[in-house]
Amino acid sequence: MARNLEPKCKSCRREGVKLMLKGERCSSPKCAISKRNYPPGIHGPKGRGRASGYSMQLREKQKAKKIYNILEKQFKLTFDKAIKQKGDAGENLMKLLETRLDNVIFRLALASSRNQARQLVNHRHFTINGKILNIPSYQTKTGDIIKIKKSSSTEKHFINITEQIKKAVMPSWLNFDIKEMTAKVLHAPAKKDFEQGINTQQIVEFYSR
Ligand code: SF4
Repeated sequence: MARNLEPKCKSCRREGVKLMLKGERCSSPKCAISKRNYPPGIHGPKGRGRASGYSMQLREKQKAKKIYNILEKQFKLTFDKAIKQKGDAGENLMKLLETRLDNVIFRLALASSRNQARQLVNHRHFTINGKILNIPSYQTKTGDIIKIKKSSSTEKHFINITEQIKKAVMPSWLNFDIKEMTAKVLHAPAKKDFEQGINTQQIVEFYSR
């Protein structure tokens, strides 16, 4: 499966924001953005220069792709789906990104990053409505029941992550029963639940050129 091979911290430095791609390290003083908040490369320390309209739109699209850990082809397919739906294309796009199974696993605090969430899904640790599903791009729906597979629940990762789940602030559109290690999608995510700091208008304009 194709993956984004650019070093994660380099991606953050290119976009000039913390994309939170490395779990706990992102909140620590070791974060590369805290230490070197300028673009990678020899011209980096000189700053970012003046961005044109096109480059701002491009960077916004790249940022969203990196945050949700998606490559161009799949991101564009998601955008195409979003514009075919009724309502605001930017909002539809964010809903589609938020409801991806790998993102839901991340939101439930079952993984410390979307990258780790994707790996856990790939490794068949979850069932959706009783069936094992290893498709990170699966679009969860209202009423879906996500469960950690019985044989996986005794694995070190899931035992260690319990404290993290207890401390996590669950989004209002998801419910997590920690005793049963089962989650339910209560309803579609609202604007307040979306990843903040993504200017979807710029993304819509980028693809409308
Ligand atoms: Fe980005 Fe996390 Fe690396 Fe900081 S530690 S630069 S937030 S990936």
